[in-house]
Amino acid sequence: MTFFLTIGDLLIKYWPNFLKGAGVTMLLALTGTLSGFIIGMVIQCVRTIPEKEKGIGRIALKIIKGILTAYVELFRGTPMMVQACLIYFGAPILFGWQFNKLVAGYLVITINTGAYMAEIIRGGFDSIDAGQRDGAKSLGMNHVKTMVYIMIPQTLRRILPAAGNELVANIKDTTVLNVIGVIELFSNVKDVINSTFKSFEPFVIAALIYFVLTFTVTRLLRLLEKGLEGKAHYELIEETETKPQKLALGRPGGALTVRGLQKSFGKNDVLKGVDFHVDSGEVVSIIGSSGSGKSTLLRCINLLSKPDEGEILLDGINAAGLKKPAAYRAKVAMVFQQFNLFDNLNVLENCMIGQVKVLGASKKDAEKNALYYLQAVGMDRFVKAYPRQLSGGQKQRVAIARALAMNPEIILFDEPTSALDPEMVGEVLKVMRTLADSGMTMVVVTHEMSFAKEAADRVIFMDNGVIAEEGTPEQLFNHPENERTREFLQRIVADHSVHFAKPCS
Ligand code: ADP
Ligand code: MG
Repeated sequence: MTFFLTIGDLLIKYWPNFLKGAGVTMLLALTGTLSGFIIGMVIQCVRTIPEKEKGIGRIALKIIKGILTAYVELFRGTPMMVQACLIYFGAPILFGWQFNKLVAGYLVITINTGAYMAEIIRGGFDSIDAGQRDGAKSLGMNHVKTMVYIMIPQTLRRILPAAGNELVANIKDTTVLNVIGVIELFSNVKDVINSTFKSFEPFVIAALIYFVLTFTVTRLLRLLEKGLEGKAHYELIEETETKPQKLALGRPGGALTVRGLQKSFGKNDVLKGVDFHVDSGEVVSIIGSSGSGKSTLLRCINLLSKPDEGEILLDGINAAGLKKPAAYRAKVAMVFQQFNLFDNLNVLENCMIGQVKVLGASKKDAEKNALYYLQAVGMDRFVKAYPRQLSGGQKQRVAIARALAMNPEIILFDEPTSALDPEMVGEVLKVMRTLADSGMTMVVVTHEMSFAKEAADRVIFMDNGVIAEEGTPEQLFNHPENERTREFLQRIVADHSVHFAKPCS
């Protein structure tokens, strides 16, 4: 009983000390963690700047990256107490700077947290699928835009629990700043001990206050996490008019010529000189076994991979070797096997972001345009849904609308139906057929032989990094000349008799 009475007495008598101490502790922990977080984010952004092939910029970037890595390793590998002493007592000797104790405390927490945050943020960043970046690049976003609109928002959501842990740890670790004489909560508690000669109760009060502070912070962070997660359900929007049968495209499809395209990954020569031409409004299907280089070819055409040799001419202008490929990429849309919709944006925003941030369209125009194409692919009711709330077929239709909304000259499809359940393949192929009928220039890598047969003007068979044969669907499917084409088609018939059920008419 007397124990509780003593605690009560101490609280009543010394509450200003405890409050002041708690205030300083929270001020240092909050500002230091926030600044450390910003430092960590800047470090991660610098670390992800793509390195140029050669030149002074490359060397400078390498040096900066090296310094940042050294900073992270050094400050994670030494105790905060030692860092505090080095900064507070070392700065006057080395630079003649005598920091105010609070400022020194803030700097210590900031620098220490920055090193940890850099690693936390790197972990969050690396956990994001590479397809998110491919998706952003394919819309023509440069490095900065990709970071700001796609990568950083997604990283933030992922690292919030770990960053929250850092804040909680910092609230407790401010005690360390005692060593340089910062009067935070623990120092105040020690003052109370010295004035009252009580050696137990003040510690109990200290433990209680620390617990209340960390518990409150943890709860607030949970609320923030919940807020960022977004709603579990989305509302369906009223269905609008009937879908357009033919799409009004913003411009006629462009013509693409690929000449002597070569690409190796190390010693693996993946493309060994690929030549082909696609006319304006033409639909070309590319078929071939897995590993023959089809995806690499599309990625080179869109400059997501850098070709080693060769020309890529869009309407006669060579894009290979462009230093800044963003504007070109915006004209060459890409639809991926894994959809690569932006997870942090809803359906409508997915279809607007490229228009607004790359093409400079107003939000109003972008929304109108996005809705037109979403309607065309039958996804206008889902504007408020997030990608994780959609089925594969729905995601792919949104991805097609997103590509179309950029008003591209050509769309590249990389096995757009391969990741879909069989019953969803039809809905995506239907949209692609409408598109083909509307005059879009399309290059479609596909295993859907029925689509290649019925919707393509021409079919290309790729084998081992070269075009082994090309011709009309009738020629290629019914009268293949190349031995490898025949073998491939026979294998396909055996494996996918459903897709290859009826012969070409
Ligand atoms: P396909 O799409 O026809 O199945 P890909 O173009 O994906 O074939 O791959 C062709 C070859 O290139 C494969 O051997 C693959 O391992 C290799 N490859 C593709 N991308 C990379 C990469 N980023 N790094 C190294 N090798 C790669
Ligand atoms: Mg592929």
